[in-house]
Amino acid sequence: MSEDLFDIVILGGGSGGYACALRASQLGKKVALIEEDKLGGTCLHRGCIPTKALLHAAEVADSTRESSAFGVQATLQGIDMPAVNKYKDSVVSRLYKGLQGLVKSRKITYVTGTGKLVGPDSVEVGGEVYKGRAVVLATGSYARSLPGLDIGGRIITSEEALEMDYVPDSAIVLGGGVIGVEFASVWKSFGTDVTIVEALPHLVPAEDEACSKALERAFRKRKITFHTGVRFSSAAQDDKSVTVTLEDGKTITADVLLVAVGRGPRTTGVGYEENGVTLDRGFVPVDANLQTNVPGVYAVGDIVPGLQLAHRGFGQGIYLAEHLAGLNPAPIDEAGIPRVTYCEPEVASVGYTEPEAKAKFGDIETYEYNLGGNGKSQILATAGFIKLVRQKDGPVVGVHMVGSRVGELIGEGQLIYNWEAYPEDVAALVHAHPTQNEAMGEAHLALAGKPLHAHA
Ligand SMILES: Cc1cc2nc3c(=O)[nH]c(=O)nc-3n(C[C@H](O)[C@H](O)[C@H](O)COP(=O)(O)OP(=O)(O)OC[C@H]3O[C@@H](n4cnc5c(N)ncnc54)[C@H](O)[C@@H]3O)c2cc1C
Repeated sequence: MSEDLFDIVILGGGSGGYACALRASQLGKKVALIEEDKLGGTCLHRGCIPTKALLHAAEVADSTRESSAFGVQATLQGIDMPAVNKYKDSVVSRLYKGLQGLVKSRKITYVTGTGKLVGPDSVEVGGEVYKGRAVVLATGSYARSLPGLDIGGRIITSEEALEMDYVPDSAIVLGGGVIGVEFASVWKSFGTDVTIVEALPHLVPAEDEACSKALERAFRKRKITFHTGVRFSSAAQDDKSVTVTLEDGKTITADVLLVAVGRGPRTTGVGYEENGVTLDRGFVPVDANLQTNVPGVYAVGDIVPGLQLAHRGFGQGIYLAEHLAGLNPAPIDEAGIPRVTYCEPEVASVGYTEPEAKAKFGDIETYEYNLGGNGKSQILATAGFIKLVRQKDGPVVGVHMVGSRVGELIGEGQLIYNWEAYPEDVAALVHAHPTQNEAMGEAHLALAGKPLHAHA
């Protein structure tokens, strides 16, 4: 048994766990942070950061390929995957070093090893027990597969896809959600022949249908093939290829099959159920203060039902540290968490989709501002729109966007939603010209009844 009694013992050093540790230590709490692999978790080592590095390399490839449209003479000679990986890994390792330094400087007791909950206030690591006034479960998630679909060989998950040292000639992506369309986008930019299979009727099915349809149009234009509304039936591989059979009898053959059908919670074999923590399909339900059904045991991040996003984990970690320090923080509104899909073109949203808003608020109004009227978007040669949803005569309750780089605009959308701004409030604020951000101002001008570069 460790001699010390900690204020907080955190199991898992990913986005949720380390954010909680950093904030709690800032508030003077004595914290133990237990991690079996690398501090930073999925997001830093196998998720957000490496995928966005690949997407940036993909953007450079596209810019080179399309350079003549801008009067620049350049030829794309090829993709050097080991060099792309070197660039990607160098970004990750710089951030990893920084994060390690941060944790060290905050005097957090960092424990390397596999932890297991052994009591409502105790986590065991290699025979040592760490006791805390509060225990935070933050063990994250893993890439799921489907029954009968074994990962191995040419059948891979995002983890293997991030380590590939070659560009496949062809790829099948099973799952048209965020991770699936991001890899489809990267590979297409790198020259791969890509086919996406999605069981639901649309790509990025959690988004407002207008965004899904716009992304589908853009992907069609990019010659990314996709089959929606059809389910996977089986897959077979040999040393040359992998063939997927769909439930409608269609078969697709490619070099690799990326399985991107969602992420499951890492909650087995870690002592949760054995110590009375209720699980719901493997996830850990929590109350408004992120407490599980066991008093003193809390959970953050991907194991908590809801959006599986790094910044949600950060937000929950910070909230929990402040709650445990008695600061009475404002509760997190899950709908106010921004969502960005970083494929080309990007999809970004916050708040409610049109049908969700209708169901929740009844009377609503919507407006779609086409990026065709936005100077900077024309300069970048991107198409898309900003769609706003407001309560009738009330605040904006949904912002939905498609277009190159629109992910960078979601910061303003998030303030608008979370501060319950009216279109009239935003319309009165002057936006810089020519920026894509200006489209946000124009959309609100139009919804407030005074369109500038748009028809009423
Ligand atoms: C390919 C991909 C791309 C993504 N892109 C984005 C993006 O662009 N933006 C975004 O917001 N989100 C993105 N995500 C999601 C994001 O990575 C997760 O939401 C986030 O990492 C969840 O944080 P977490 O702390 O809950 O879990 P994790 O980051 O998974 O961390 C959990 C940690 O716990 C450790 N652990 C588990 N069990 C034990 C144990 N028994 N003992 C000790 N340690 C243990 C693990 O080793 C891990 O380090 C992406 C995910 C993937 C897979």
